Amino acid sequence: MKHIGTFAIWYDTAVPGWVAVNEKQQQGFGTGAKGEREATRYALHEAFPQVTTAVDHLCTQHPEATSRAWAAAELLVMGHVLNPDPVEPDEVVRVRSQRRAASNHPYRLLRQPDGTLACDCPDFQRGGLALTGEAFVNQLLCKHLLAYWLACHLAWPLTKETPAPLHPKRSHAGRFRGRAVTAVGQNNLHQLVSSQAAAQYGNGQPVLPAHLTHYQAYIAYTQQRPFSQEKLLSWSLGR
Ligand SMILES: [Zn+2]
Repeated sequence: MKHIGTFAIWYDTAVPGWVAVNEKQQQGFGTGAKGEREATRYALHEAFPQVTTAVDHLCTQHPEATSRAWAAAELLVMGHVLNPDPVEPDEVVRVRSQRRAASNHPYRLLRQPDGTLACDCPDFQRGGLALTGEAFVNQLLCKHLLAYWLACHLAWPLTKETPAPLHPKRSHAGRFRGRAVTAVGQNNLHQLVSSQAAAQYGNGQPVLPAHLTHYQAYIAYTQQRPFSQEKLLSWSLGR
């Protein structure tokens, strides 16, 4: 049994077949992996239509991403996309595995020197998925990276999870903690912005809470604030 929003998805041996059920609806599907897939996508569509729309759009453009993209959608709506460890400057996000036991460490998405992201999951380590086209140029993908992409695309809040207890010395030396950096404003005047101050893009747009982590990472990495949300999300995806 798994849960997608208000839906429970389980295999009914009496039918037999997969069932997606909540308080108001019950829908039956076939057996096997196909039935499970259809039940899951039905629940995603009913409970999280915006996620389904984004995944549908991605799969239309890149049919080869289909299985990883739907797996990514499940990771996202189940709250498995976690905020990064604030004392790990290269860590962009962590993604909890569906299969691994909860006690195991989540997979980590790490910023590489060339600006791309790498995941430490077996799929990515084996080469992952390479898509052609502008959106993911030079960026290999796995379901964890796609889950992060969906989170950025939909401004989905990352799940706040406290990482393993910090070493006392490191806990006071967080790279982003209260550091003031110089940002180039619209008039090309240098002004001090604190990473703790109300976050705002160069174009004056406020930063959504879901994007704050990326925003602070951007400032720490480039020493200036991003001009717009679009610029920030492009950067966070390694373009
Ligand atoms: Zn991965």
